[in-house]
Amino acid sequence: MIDRERKNATNRAFYWRHHEKSLARVATQRTKPGYREHARELLLAKKGEVLTHYGNGKCACVVCGYENVKALSVDHINGKTANEPTDKKLNGIGMYLWLIREIFPQGYQTLCMNCQFIKREDKREFANQYTGGKKRE
Ligand SMILES: [Zn+2]
Repeated sequence: MIDRERKNATNRAFYWRHHEKSLARVATQRTKPGYREHARELLLAKKGEVLTHYGNGKCACVVCGYENVKALSVDHINGKTANEPTDKKLNGIGMYLWLIREIFPQGYQTLCMNCQFIKREDKREFANQYTGGKKRE
């Protein structure tokens, strides 16, 4: 952790030394044609990498084999893991980037949304407006 703090401090110092230049660079990059598409492709590639890892080498649901990446997500096998940061919400791409940074920790699997909902229902994880936020009996 100390190493990470030191690294963060170094990065922050570097950022502030160069931030005007880097803001200008980022601004020009973002106006280039195709920037958004390119950024999106990069993030989708990261997502694919994570889903393939947790799909046991296939970018597909580990339960039913569904392959459309638009409906695939990373599932916590037994709820949130202990090392997952709780101070900030990890969702969407933030989650995928975090998993890559942590070098693919254990406790996750690739599921399609269908299997996610079935699992939630089966494990009574589902708490909704009808139960007043309580888990069902
Ligand atoms: Zn599935």
